[in-house]
Amino acid sequence: MQQGIFHYINAGKNAAEWHKRHIGQMKKLRFDTIAVHGIYSMQEALDYNQGSTIEPIYMSASQAYRDSDEMEAALSYQIPTWCYSRIGNPTMYYLEGVLALLETYGSDVEASCCATASGMAAITSACEPFLAVDLENPGQKMNFVATAQVYGGTFQNFAVRKDQERNIEWRKVIHSNNLEEWESLIDDNTRFLYGEMPSNPGQAFFDMEAVAKLAEKHNIPLIIDATIATPALMRPLAWGADIVVQSVTKTLTSSGFGIGGAVIARKNLRTRLNNPPMIADFGSYIKALPNRDLGPNISPMNAVLALNDIRTLRSKIDFMSRSALKVAKFLAAHPHIEQVDYLGLESHPLHQVAKKYMVLVDSEHDDLYNEPVNRYGHLLSFRVKGGAQAARDVFDGFQRIYRATDLGRIKSIATIPAISTHQQQGEEGRKISDIPPNLIRLNVGGEHPDDIIADLSQALAVLDGQKTEFTSPDYSAGGASSARLRK
Ligand SMILES: *Cc1c(COP(=O)(O)O)cnc(C)c1O
Repeated sequence: MQQGIFHYINAGKNAAEWHKRHIGQMKKLRFDTIAVHGIYSMQEALDYNQGSTIEPIYMSASQAYRDSDEMEAALSYQIPTWCYSRIGNPTMYYLEGVLALLETYGSDVEASCCATASGMAAITSACEPFLAVDLENPGQKMNFVATAQVYGGTFQNFAVRKDQERNIEWRKVIHSNNLEEWESLIDDNTRFLYGEMPSNPGQAFFDMEAVAKLAEKHNIPLIIDATIATPALMRPLAWGADIVVQSVTKTLTSSGFGIGGAVIARKNLRTRLNNPPMIADFGSYIKALPNRDLGPNISPMNAVLALNDIRTLRSKIDFMSRSALKVAKFLAAHPHIEQVDYLGLESHPLHQVAKKYMVLVDSEHDDLYNEPVNRYGHLLSFRVKGGAQAARDVFDGFQRIYRATDLGRIKSIATIPAISTHQQQGEEGRKISDIPPNLIRLNVGGEHPDDIIADLSQALAVLDGQKTEFTSPDYSAGGASSARLRK
């Protein structure tokens, strides 16, 4: 017996209103509470999920409907639906909900989120809709203005996939804290502004509020990659940015269990393009339309792994930031170190700018601090005296700090970007991004900082002719490692 499409539309309206009310209630709570509970509620747990206290993982490719009316209402997007896991999924919904709340925390900005399969998928999903061809002027050469100091994958995405392969010009901002440089690059064909801050690995940073005003003046969106800061330290939407992209893979999923990304966008964003649904709600728009057709959204398993790590984000990033500062000070005073780049060091040329933006959320409500305190994240880089080989010798001497092309981890990890993450952009590209071959990027993890410093200290002692105790497994002699290699 069919109940009619309006029955479902009404029920859908009620459900949507209930969720909206619940999210509104969550919005009034403190950051840690939002991070812990997200938008999953006791009512949902008891009524629909067997009392499960943890968000369920819906490992289902698709959603079934009661009848043709419900199906029609759902597939014409007239009722809330997830439909098919390439587009949406209840577990993905919980991740998107918590990220939208955390990125707008403490502000009255309204935002929505689309979670993607990786940080690169988030960057692509955020940028591509603004690169639509203008049918009234199809020959127009489009450009975008973006900082040169960006993650290696972003550099390739911009330089090769857009600029080289599609003739969409990447106008590089070399000194991102120079407002005139930004402005001089913008013209009528500029589709968006993009900045990574703090940048990976160089710690580039700029006055976001001023750049957002520039974006407003030219009626173009400002996209910020805030992966290194996370919403626990900096929330770009409140400073006037239109879109935040996160590599959820990194600090948000600090355990290192999953891969994911997110686009969090303000409602009613700025663009010169005439696309009302995109302007009204960019996050929902890309999720339901372009990403439906292109397929880059997150899987439920990766979504729940991220959710689980996000619960403790604030306290983790506080601790790891404090350790990073201690490590940075140790390195800055070390005779074999040429330069340390960490925004938290007062000697860093951008320290004052960073100070304005990078504040531990809710520190003024934390009994330990009772006032706003600055925290600068857990990524730093240092340059070893003696050039590329000296840096490699130190790097090879780490005993506990993992050598991996990764960051944001609860376990300390280091890499040499010139031979790994930023290898493909070539020497010229590395020069403009300021990534010399003697630079080591270090992600300070959750270990006790004294033990991280001890590992760095013994590795640096290699340069004094001291042998490190680290020995590679002797593959010829058997043992676990060789067993793996030999089967
Ligand atoms: C790693 C990283 C990305 C890309 O994220 P993936 O999840 O690896 O695709 C983008 N931006 C920054 C700053 C990153 O560190």
